Amino acid sequence: MTAPDAAPEPPPRAGDLPEATSTRAGPAGPAVAVLVARSGRLPGGARDAVVEAGGQAIVVGDGAREGAASLTPPVRAWWYDTGVGFRPAAMAALLAPALEDIPLVVLPATPDGRDLAPRLAAVLDRPLLAGASEVAVELVGGGGGEIAVEIAVEFVGEGVGKSTSTSTSKSTSTSTSTSGGSPDRTGMTVRVRASLSRLDDRVLVPATAAVPVVATLVPGPRDAATVPNGGPGADIRPLPVTARPATEAAVPADPEVLAVLAADPATMALDDARRVMGGGAGLVRPGEEPGRAAAAFDLLADVASALGASAGATRVATDAGWAPTWRQIGTTGVSIDPDLYVAFGISGAIQHVGGLGSPRHVVSVNTDSSCPMTAMASLGLVTDARALLVELARRLGRPFPPALEEAHDG
Ligand SMILES: Cc1cc2nc3c(=O)[nH]c(=O)nc-3n(C[C@H](O)[C@H](O)[C@H](O)COP(=O)(O)OP(=O)(O)OC[C@H]3O[C@@H](n4cnc5c(N)ncnc54)[C@H](O)[C@@H]3O)c2cc1C
Repeated sequence: MTAPDAAPEPPPRAGDLPEATSTRAGPAGPAVAVLVARSGRLPGGARDAVVEAGGQAIVVGDGAREGAASLTPPVRAWWYDTGVGFRPAAMAALLAPALEDIPLVVLPATPDGRDLAPRLAAVLDRPLLAGASEVAVELVGGGGGEIAVEIAVEFVGEGVGKSTSTSTSKSTSTSTSTSGGSPDRTGMTVRVRASLSRLDDRVLVPATAAVPVVATLVPGPRDAATVPNGGPGADIRPLPVTARPATEAAVPADPEVLAVLAADPATMALDDARRVMGGGAGLVRPGEEPGRAAAAFDLLADVASALGASAGATRVATDAGWAPTWRQIGTTGVSIDPDLYVAFGISGAIQHVGGLGSPRHVVSVNTDSSCPMTAMASLGLVTDARALLVELARRLGRPFPPALEEAHDG
C-alpha cells in the first residue's frame, strides 16, 4: 500500500508513450524534431532538439540526407532535400501533412528554426511555444480543452537578485479545441508542458498546452544524462512527401532573399560558431575582485570578435559570474563543434571537453604543460593566459583596462 505522504509518481514523458502503430513511412508518435540543414550541415542545437523529441527527426534543406546521417545520438530520421535556398513558407506547406498527427513538433531556436516554426504553427493551426528551455509530452487522464498558461516567475539573473517571486494566472488562447488535448490510442490525453525562457534566461515561464504545439528550443544548460546513448545506429530514410502544392500559386509567399550576411561572432549562437576562444579559471588571478575578473572575460570576447571568433567559458567562470551562462561550454552548457578552439587557462575537465565536439584544431594556453586540455591540443602554449590575451589585444589595437596588465605572481 502506498504511504499517504509518498511522493506522487512523476508524469509519464514522451519516451513512456506507447509505440506508434502507424504503418505509414513517415514519423509517428508523440514528438518529432524538424531540422533545417545547410550544405549538409545541421544547425546548432540539433542534438538537443532531437533529444527533446525523444529521438525522432525530420531533416530538410540543402544536403538533408547528409545532415540526417550526421545526427548523434542515433535516431529515426527522415530527410527531404529541398536544394539550395531556404523557403520557409513553402517548406512549412510541404511538411504539414507529415506533422499533423504529431502533438509536439520541436525546432532549434536558430535563425532558420525561428523562421520555419511560426509558419509551421500557422499551417498546422497550432500555438507556438517560442524559446523553450525544455519541452515534453506527457500523458494525462483527461481534462479541460483550453490552453492554460501558468506563470511562476523565477528571477535568477545577476542584477535582479536571488529572490523568487511566484504568481499564477490563467489565460485562454484563441484555440477552439474542446477535446481536452490529443487523445492517444489508449484514450489518454496528450499534454505538452514547457518552460519558456525569457529575458536572457532570467525569467522562466512554465506553460502547459492541452493541444498539439510547435515549439522552438533555446540552446543552454541541459543534462547530458537525458541524451539517449544510441543503439545500433540511425535509421535514416527519405521523407515520403505526398502533398506537394500543385502549382506555384498554391505555395504561400516567401520573402525574397536579397543578400545573406555573415553572422557577427560577438552575438551569434555559440553552437554555430566555427571559431571559439574559451576562457577558464586560469584567466583570473587568485583572489582577484569579481569586477576585474569579469573584465578579463570581456576582453576575451572583444579579442575573439576581432579575430572572427566567438567567446566561450568554463562552468567555473559562469558560476562565478565572470561570463554569462549562455557562454558556458560543456555537458551542462552549450555543445559546440567548431573548426578551431582556443582554450585560455582551461584545465580540460571531462564535463567541459564533452561539449567541444570534434574541433579540427585545438590550441591550449596554460601554465601547466601536462593538463588534459594541453594534452589533447594540437598546439600547447605554456604561458600565462592573461598576459597572452592582453598582448593579443595590444597587437590588435583593442582597448583594455590597464589593471589587466598586472604581472602574474604565481
Ligand atoms: C555535474 C557537473 C557538470 C559540469 N558541467 C560543466 C560544464 O558544462 N562545463 C564546464 O566547463 N565545466 C563543467 N563542470 C565543471 C568541471 O568539472 C570543471 O570544474 C571545470 O570545467 C573547470 O574549469 P576551469 O578549467 O576553468 O578551471 P580549473 O579546473 O580550475 O582549471 C584552471 C586551469 O588554469 C590553469 N592556469 C592557472 N593559472 C594560469 C595562468 N596564469 N595562465 C594559464 N593557465 C593557468 C591551470 O593550470 C588549470 O589547468 C561540471 C561539473 C560537474 C560536477
